[in-house]
Formats: sequence, C-alpha cells, structure tokens
Amino acid sequence: MSTPTTLPVFPGTVNAAGHPATLGVMGGGQLGRMFVHAAQRLGYFTAVLDPDAHSPAGRVSHHHVQTGYSDARGLAQLASLCAAVTTEFENVPASALQALAAHGPVAPGAAAVAIAQDRIEEKSHFTASVGVAGVACAPYAVIETPEQLQAVSADLLPGILKTARMGYDGKGQVRVKDAAELAAAWASLKEVPCVLEKLLPLKAECSVIVARGWDGRIVSFPPQFNVHVGGILAVTEVYEGNMPAALATRAQAATEAIANHINYVGVLCVEFFLIDDGSEHGALVVNEMAPRPHNSGHYTLDACDVSQFDLQVHAMAGLPLPQPRQHSPAIMLNLLGDVWLDAAGQPRTPDWQAVLALPGVHLHLYGKLDAHPGRKMGHLTVTGADVAGVKATARQAAAILSLPGFEAA
Ligand code: ADP
Ligand code: MG
Repeated sequence: MSTPTTLPVFPGTVNAAGHPATLGVMGGGQLGRMFVHAAQRLGYFTAVLDPDAHSPAGRVSHHHVQTGYSDARGLAQLASLCAAVTTEFENVPASALQALAAHGPVAPGAAAVAIAQDRIEEKSHFTASVGVAGVACAPYAVIETPEQLQAVSADLLPGILKTARMGYDGKGQVRVKDAAELAAAWASLKEVPCVLEKLLPLKAECSVIVARGWDGRIVSFPPQFNVHVGGILAVTEVYEGNMPAALATRAQAATEAIANHINYVGVLCVEFFLIDDGSEHGALVVNEMAPRPHNSGHYTLDACDVSQFDLQVHAMAGLPLPQPRQHSPAIMLNLLGDVWLDAAGQPRTPDWQAVLALPGVHLHLYGKLDAHPGRKMGHLTVTGADVAGVKATARQAAAILSLPGFEAA
C-alpha cells in the first residue's frame, strides 16, 4: 500500500475549503478519547462518530457525529470533515470503513479490521503469516454446523467455545469439559459460528503493539506482560526482564509478520499466551489481534516518549513513525466499575486522596459517569526510577483500591 496522495496531512493547516486539518475516529470509547487527546495535542481538530450522546471521546472532540456506525449520512458527514479516519473498536462494520475509504485515507483498512472481527479468519491469517516466526495458534476446530459439532476431536477437550464474532473481555465464551457440555454451550450461544479452542495450561499472557505506516515502516513497543482476571485485563507490567528475552524477540517478530502480511497501516496489538510445554521458558501461542491501540498499551502514555495513540495519529496522517523509547519501568492497573462499589454493592468514591499521594502514579479516568461491575472506567500507571520501587507503589495503589490481579503477577 502506498501513501495516499492527500497525505501527509499536517496539523495546523487549512484545506482548500477553509477547514482545519481534522482527524476522525469511528467509535467514542476510552480508546477514541485518548486518540482524540493525542491528535489535539499535536494541533489537529478531531471528529468522533458514535451513537452515544455521552461517549467518552465525543465529549472531548471538536465534532461529534452522533449516528449509528452504518448511517450513510453520518459517514458522509465524517468523511467531509476529516483528512483521514481511523477506528477505535474492531466491531465497527467493515462496510462502513469501506464507504469512508471512497472519500479519503482510512487506517487500518476495512480488510484488516474484517479479519480481526472474525476468529475463524483471524486464525487462518495467523497460520498463514506467523509460521515463519515459529508461533502457532491454540489447536482449534470451527463449529458452524451440527456435523462439525459432532466431528470435534476429543483432543480439543476440555476447551473454550468462543463465538467467531463480537466477543470481547471474555464475553461470548464458554468453558466446556466434554462433548455434552460443548453441545449445550453451542446451543446457549444460539448456534452462531464458533471456534472451539483447546484449554491450554497458561503460564502467562503477553501482547505486542506495533505501528506500521503507509510506506511499510514498522516500529514497536516492548512486549507487555499481562494478567487477566475473569477474562478482563487487570494488570500490565513492562520493564526489562518482564519475560524471557528469547520469547520477547519471538513475539515481536510474529507481530511484525502478522502486520506485514496484510500490509497493515496503523497501530496493531497481538495477544499471546505463554504455555507450559516442559521447556525452560515455555512456548508462545498467538491468541488474537486488535486492529487499534490496546488496553495493554495504555502505559505508553506515561512511560514512553511517544504513546500508542501518538503513533496512531502519525500512521494515519502519513507522518513519520519514530521508534518509541520506554523511559521508565511501568505497571498499569485497570480500574473497573467494581472500584466504585463497596462490599455491599453501594456506590462509593474511591480513595483518590491516598492514591494520588503516591509517587509516580498517573491516574486516567475516561469520563464515564455510571460505574458497574466489569466496566472499564479508567486505569492508573505507575512509573519510577526502578522496577522494585514501581512494584512497591503499584502494590500500595492496588491495596488502597482493592484491585485484583497484582499480587498474582
Ligand atoms: P477476548 O476477546 O474476550 O479478549 P480471548 O480469546 O483473549 O478473548 O480470551 C480471554 C481470556 O481467556 C484470555 O486472555 C485468557 O486468559 C483466557 N483464554 C482464552 N483462550 C484460552 C485458551 N485456549 N486456553 C486457556 N485460556 C484461554
Ligand atoms: Mg483477548
């Protein structure tokens, strides 16, 4: 893919119609909000398309196109405002990105997003692109018909049945022990297309974020060590030695291969499992990809000289992609709605006074006003001069806010 003729678009410029250089984003959640902040800091105007009047990104953007993602008028309005458009969530209809691409640059493109929207497509793509790097997917079977359900090999059980589309944060997944549970689980998922994955003995999980430009240049952040609780990311730790160097290199190479194979443009995150295969460090298994900035990359805002959101801005606008440098060890703790509820389920205000008194704590709240369990309300990143100090502070913050996952890390 070569750079579109209308790029680069520089911030602070005005087009022929007199409009200031504006970048657009499909989706108005927290990822869109942090993207908007990064774009605005550089001097761009921003436009967000999201149906929700109170979307976190819509509230902070110059323009908020408040329509559905497939609304032709909304898409036309976004296209007319923007010099380039990106997306902040992978379930935006690929057809909407295709419609926008008729008017101007869209990164990532509809084809890449369509792959990430469907676990079946995604696994085929992984198999085709990362074999070189020696990283495979979990053993799996596609279940779209009763015949495929019947034919499932016993080797895949116990397993996890996952809907092919629309799953996130552990939603759309059922753990099954045997064929009877599998059949019941598929029925409970309304017999939509699914994949059954073998349940793997996870030692750990990690992710890698890269940014790739229109010209094929690719830069990457160091591998993130992630802890999930209840299927939702709880903790990300990033510092020298957070995982064995050989595995880090391999995860990085696999992620670059995945991005290169589809001529990806923009920020891409690939999630991996580290499994116990009897070897010293374990083996890497590629799990899934997110065609956008990722929760495990939020630490880049505070611990790196350029963030994942800065790189999304650079990539889509055709600006140079500098190699990011992490300048501080970092631990990111997710703040779910549970933090706003006491043990009896009654609303409470978290003890920010105590948390904000800790050195190197960076609090990010997304402007969501109603907290409910499991809802991503914000995160905090701890930075510091050394890993031991960062860990000690993170432990204190986790204790003050009763956050899960860190002690296990
Ligand atoms: P989501 O789209 O919800 O993030 P994932 O496929 O990443 O879906 O699954 C969520 C979490 O469930 C993973 O981060 C991991 O902790 C666990 N998990 C998923 N697949 C497997 C598997 N095959 N074996 C063991 N654990 C798994
Ligand atoms: Mg996941």
